Amino acid sequence: MYLHLTLHSLSLKIASSRGTTVIEPHSWGQQSGEEEVEKMPLHSEDIRPEMKEDIHDPSYQDEEGPPPKLEYVWRNIILMALLHLGALYGITLVPSCKVYTWLLGIFYNIVAALGITAGAHRLWSHRTYKARLPLRLFLIMANTMAFQNDVYEWARDHRVHHKFTETHADPHNSRRGFFFSHVGWLLVRKHPAVKEKGGKLDMSDLKAEKLVMFQRRYYKPAVLLIGIILPTLVPWYFWGETFQHSLYIATFLRYTIVLNFTWLVNSAAHLYGYRPYDRNIGARENALVSMATLGEGFHNYHHAFPYDYSVSEYRWHINFTTFFIDCMAALGLAYDRKRVSKAAVLARIKRTGDGSHKSG
Ligand SMILES: [Zn+2]
Ligand SMILES: [Zn+2]
Repeated sequence: MYLHLTLHSLSLKIASSRGTTVIEPHSWGQQSGEEEVEKMPLHSEDIRPEMKEDIHDPSYQDEEGPPPKLEYVWRNIILMALLHLGALYGITLVPSCKVYTWLLGIFYNIVAALGITAGAHRLWSHRTYKARLPLRLFLIMANTMAFQNDVYEWARDHRVHHKFTETHADPHNSRRGFFFSHVGWLLVRKHPAVKEKGGKLDMSDLKAEKLVMFQRRYYKPAVLLIGIILPTLVPWYFWGETFQHSLYIATFLRYTIVLNFTWLVNSAAHLYGYRPYDRNIGARENALVSMATLGEGFHNYHHAFPYDYSVSEYRWHINFTTFFIDCMAALGLAYDRKRVSKAAVLARIKRTGDGSHKSG
């Protein structure tokens, strides 16, 4: 149901457009000796002066010992179960639902998904590009519609996921299985290592951003209003949809779909797919996840180069979010898009890839 563009050839045009910072390889990128290649510093192509907290820290490893004890959060378990039951009931109502309700659901989810992908993820967690106020206003609204925790909390969880990926300090550690990394992590208390490492992250850039802090302060009433009440009332009020259809389809089913699609990045894209850029990390390239998430499934690339605004070696290939950011850049609302150079990518494929890349 999501738009996915495969206009790779057209991306050549935008590649030469203004405002993209292509990160050129350093001299090490040209070296050929295996030994020199091994000594190359990782991430020397990252040129974001304000952000280093999403860079993988391999020095942190789990201590030996029994698996962590699960402490259930029953409130979350009950709410999540009710939501999913509501969504299942919503599926049975789909045949009798009005077409405008469907269209609203699709539109709402695309906007909400952009609030996560272009907003919480690529802009606020990774600082891969810069956005002017009108775009940031749109993204914070869209992010609130998505109802997946406020941007500050989302970014803190996400930075710690990148920095300590697949250890106990990773909030959705995929070594604990599909269910845990998909949704289970939201149903139990955080592992002490997540709290400890997450608490030490530098979040000063987000603390200094008034819009992000404003959303955090008014998150609960805002989410109630535009995440739940608005999509329920609009179909009922404007085109005479029954209240039942509005609630179960436009709110419960729609929200459940965008939630599960986003969670696939943490579960499926850490478990299924090739690792052409770095075989030493769990994150993988998964085209199906990219289709479901407007372009966030190129996850092996993304963990290898978290500072690239396209989160992929490619631009518009199954990546509606990059298309959206490029359109915003054409309007002057996005700028300073960080991009890793082809040569640096090829050097990384050669050094740490699993051999599945077509260039390898
Ligand atoms: Zn990320
Ligand atoms: Zn990941």
